[in-house]
Amino acid sequence: MADSPNPFLAPSTLPYQLPPFGEIRNEHYRPAFDAGMAEQLAEVTAITTDTAEPTIENTLVALERSGQALQRVATVFFSLSSSDSTDFGTALEEELAPLLAAHTDAIRLDPALYARIAALYERRDALDLDPETAYLLDRYFTEYTLAGAGLSDADKMTLRDLNMRLSTLTTRFEKNLLADTNDLAVVIDDVAELDGLGDGEISAAAEAAAERGLTGKYVLTLVLPTSHPYLASLTNRTVRERLLTASRSRGIRGGQHDNRELVLEITRLRARRARLLGFASHAAYVTADETAKSPEAVAEMLDRLAPAAARNAREEQQSLQAAVRADGGDFELAAWDWAFYTEKVRQARYDVDTSAMRPYFELERVLNDGVFYAATRLYGITFTARPDLTAWNPEARVFEVANEDGSPVGLYIADFYTRDSKRGGAWMNALVSQSTLLGTPTIVTNNLNVPKPAAGSPTLLSFDEVTTLFHEFGHALHGLFAQVTYPRFAGTNVYRDFVEFPSQVNEMWMLWPEVLANYARHYRTGESMPQELVDRIRESATFNEGFATSEYLAAALLDQAWHRITADDTVADVAAFEAAALAAVGLDNPVVPTRYASTYFAHTFSGGYDAGYYSYIWSEVLDADTVAWFTENGGLTRANGDRFRDRLLGVGGSGDPLAAYRSFRGRDAHIQPLLDRRGLN
Ligand SMILES: [Zn+2]
Repeated sequence: MADSPNPFLAPSTLPYQLPPFGEIRNEHYRPAFDAGMAEQLAEVTAITTDTAEPTIENTLVALERSGQALQRVATVFFSLSSSDSTDFGTALEEELAPLLAAHTDAIRLDPALYARIAALYERRDALDLDPETAYLLDRYFTEYTLAGAGLSDADKMTLRDLNMRLSTLTTRFEKNLLADTNDLAVVIDDVAELDGLGDGEISAAAEAAAERGLTGKYVLTLVLPTSHPYLASLTNRTVRERLLTASRSRGIRGGQHDNRELVLEITRLRARRARLLGFASHAAYVTADETAKSPEAVAEMLDRLAPAAARNAREEQQSLQAAVRADGGDFELAAWDWAFYTEKVRQARYDVDTSAMRPYFELERVLNDGVFYAATRLYGITFTARPDLTAWNPEARVFEVANEDGSPVGLYIADFYTRDSKRGGAWMNALVSQSTLLGTPTIVTNNLNVPKPAAGSPTLLSFDEVTTLFHEFGHALHGLFAQVTYPRFAGTNVYRDFVEFPSQVNEMWMLWPEVLANYARHYRTGESMPQELVDRIRESATFNEGFATSEYLAAALLDQAWHRITADDTVADVAAFEAAALAAVGLDNPVVPTRYASTYFAHTFSGGYDAGYYSYIWSEVLDADTVAWFTENGGLTRANGDRFRDRLLGVGGSGDPLAAYRSFRGRDAHIQPLLDRRGLN
């Protein structure tokens, strides 16, 4: 075996360059990473030591061609670490993390490389570049500059120190949060206090207690947002209050797990780093490299939504208060009562029982007659199972995707079932990214976490799981339709505040009448889903949206407020800062707490969404406006699909995304469709 070649060191010869999963063994990874990094550093050295004047070809195109072996091993390794992890992989990942970070820094902060990019950027108007290449130059210059490549040596040292200190602080924030979340789990003595929970939930609480040495008691563990799923069903008001109060106490109790000082120091250091890089605030630094471009643009949108959301939440509050009275309650509705009375009102008003829908959502029908069917109607593409091609696990199925004329589009790999070796959630991934420069095709994957039914039983999906499948397939289409020259622009390689937009749009087809009628059939009888069930789902769409929008906006505003402080500002009190920020936009209703408070806001203080939590609703503006366009223009037609594919999906990150949007929509996005969807008028 010693002389078997390392499969990562040359492009795969399988169809679509599918990685040869059958040949890959654990001992191939580390040598391939080492060889791949060394190869890329040699390629970069060849660029920086070239005595010829910098050109697009000898600098940017050479960079785009560099690191292909590293790319091959990294995509396979990191795909597997999410989809089918092993102890070997987990250990190697830890070993590789600092090496890969140092590798990226060595290239990004290389002064000779930056000098060549900057020289090209300086002369950009005289270079007569095609639009994609002009954009490539702009992106390289911006990214390297924002990473600090243009700083003096002394400032680079300061930057490295700030980065290191910030990485320590954000890791500590995360550890404190985890510890406080565990410490604050609610202990219940008497099972009667858990009235309203199901048998499975009660036995989970008993097990959680036993694990903590509290046999005979019950423990309710906290989850990440402020709210908790059990708040909707616990009938005991005191237990609800204890649960929500515990949730909101994370990180503010003093002692070693208190996160308040960390919030203050992290935001202070981020502001200082932003100033070093030439920006007024961290939010300005982050949004400069997003479609939003400035914190002012983000604030304008959030300010526009906040008053209507707050007003709707107050109306919802009144109808919940009425439900309290009707129930014989003689108390003011509190935050911990919201979910409980919302469920009562929802049942009374819409009679929606989502479990009644499962028999109509059989996985194979949803996939073939729903998800694939909608794509065929829109884009003319067809899907052929390729059982002869194997992926990382027998449960991952390979499909070949072709255009209407039979020309190839790429491979789609579907891995839907949950496994112990798979991380939670759902995601899309590109195994091979399209590029005409490199001559590479496209392979995309979708991972879900659907519990596997007993052998011989059908897989019946929940409403949310069907939504997720349509959503992730929207990302897959973004990857499959890539039509770009440079690999860094393929498919979903777009800004963070833009990437969710195509996947959100694809969700619209789930309930589109022609699509729904085609797939939502009873798995046993073949009967269509009853129309009144469909109608009730549609009618209940804006129910409780005032609350949902308010709690989200409050968190997005806090994230922005913390990151709009400048290096000169001194903030000393977390609670006072939060209260002032929320009051300024009218989102300070105590019955509607923010989705995350600062001391347990992992997205913004340790999760990479700093100054970026606004992204979800930002891309939803484009999504809702696009759904309106499809609806106005005849819906599910080839002409509509082709327009969306050619002008938007295929462009990927190869140009200004908002210009692509304008080309597709004929104008900039309007916010009205989002206001309608969320009932914010
Ligand atoms: Zn997504």
